[in-house]
Amino acid sequence: MENCIFCRIIRGEIPSRKIFEDERILVIEDITPQAPLHLLLVSKKHLVNCLDLSTQDDDLIGYIFRKAGEIARQKGYAESGFRVVQNNGAGAGQSVFHIHFHLLAGREFTWPPG
Ligand code: AMP
Ligand code: ZN
Repeated sequence: MENCIFCRIIRGEIPSRKIFEDERILVIEDITPQAPLHLLLVSKKHLVNCLDLSTQDDDLIGYIFRKAGEIARQKGYAESGFRVVQNNGAGAGQSVFHIHFHLLAGREFTWPPG
């Protein structure tokens, strides 16, 4: 997508702090961190959010969750706990309309989320 900010980051047109990259995903530091660890796991395929998924994306979404756990463990947050969040629609707080998963850790989290 031409003007999508995450597509532009994936293409290298906008700088980012990259944690991990392979053919399916890019993992970057969030530019406005909400926790000591705040990463974004971004699909390289432009999908808007959950409403845009089809059966062919099932493996991708499973892979992203597994990767979130792997990174959280690597960063030392397996014991303390961490949160994986994905917002769908402006009403739920989605501000970038390219599917991504927030990985947050390093502080106390409340429930329900705000
Ligand atoms: P959401 O509000 O769930 O759509 O999440 C979008 C996230 O992208 C927010 O947490 C923003 O801080 C983050 N963000 C926006 N622009 C950038 C950028 N250029 N690099 C890294 N993170 C960004
Ligand atoms: Zn995009």
